[in-house]
Amino acid sequence: QAKRDGRAHFQYFSPEMNVEMLERMQLEQRLRKAVKKSEFYLEYQPVVDMTHGTVSSVEALIRWRDPEFGIISPALFIPIAEETGLIEPLGEWVLNQALADLSSWHAQGHMLKIAINVSGRQCINSNGLSFYQVLEEALLRHKIAAHYVHIEITESLLIEDKPYSLEILQSIRNLGVDIYLDDFGTGYSALSYLNQFPISVIKIDKSFIDNATVSQSDAKLVKAIVMMGQSLEMTLVAEGIETEEQWDFLQSLGCNYAQGYLMSKPLSSENLLTFLENETAINRIIDRKALASV
Ligand code: C2E
Ligand code: MG
Ligand code: MG
Ligand code: MG
Repeated sequence: QAKRDGRAHFQYFSPEMNVEMLERMQLEQRLRKAVKKSEFYLEYQPVVDMTHGTVSSVEALIRWRDPEFGIISPALFIPIAEETGLIEPLGEWVLNQALADLSSWHAQGHMLKIAINVSGRQCINSNGLSFYQVLEEALLRHKIAAHYVHIEITESLLIEDKPYSLEILQSIRNLGVDIYLDDFGTGYSALSYLNQFPISVIKIDKSFIDNATVSQSDAKLVKAIVMMGQSLEMTLVAEGIETEEQWDFLQSLGCNYAQGYLMSKPLSSENLLTFLENETAINRIIDRKALASV
């Protein structure tokens, strides 16, 4: 924050803040090095079709393995990557790695779709190129049809620079790439954006799913979100399904897709193939139900 205020301003920090700043700067420096040395890899979490029980797509999730700190959560470093602009090279790496993996699954007969998380700054400002161009080029390079790929954005992008983000999202949509709204319900934007932006899928945030089967008011909220999505003719995905009760509840509401530890945690590319070949997610749920009723 102090950095953004410019050099003319002086700020005084308490010792605690200094420690925090130092850690923050260390993390930033490490992140710069990590981008140069490619200390990243991707995991893929299956997204399951709630009617057929099949894995329809996977979400690509970035991981950073620091030689000293071990694995660092994207929740920690993505915000830093955004502030420093490192998100641009990082985001391009994610896109190319994910599309390379996707084309190898396709070659093996698994015609999955893939979700790529795209943060606000990455979408709006990619080295003079817009993310739309980066995406178009990557699709061509990996020879992947656009309908196999969708991007996940969050509400913050929609309020950042409205005319420009609308233009970029419209171009991305025109490529044939669907736009998903991630973490729905956690942002601060108005609901009117659902009609103004070319969004076709809503991902209901895990925080709503967590208590949907224990709290009446959360259950009503989830139900209201699903009904709103349906009346806007949008597809719904529930994030963070951990229990069968949550699965049953969301399914009874008519939610289309589910993602969560109940079906699978994020997997390495190899483990994903094993997962796809050995069992469909619904089989596991059905098996468990059969076991439970014995
Ligand atoms: P997200 O896009 O909302 O991704 C879903 C997060 O929920 C993932 O955390 C996933 O591992 C976690 N999750 C899924 N199901 C469950 C469940 O049943 N229980 C629990 N406890 N967690 C579950 P992860 O991988 O730590 O990613 C955190 C966030 O970091 C993502 O949230 C996304 O906002 C961001 N992120 C991850 N990869 C990328 C990337 O390549 N680019 C950008 N820009 N952001 C990314
Ligand atoms: Mg996501
Ligand atoms: Mg999410
Ligand atoms: Mg989230």
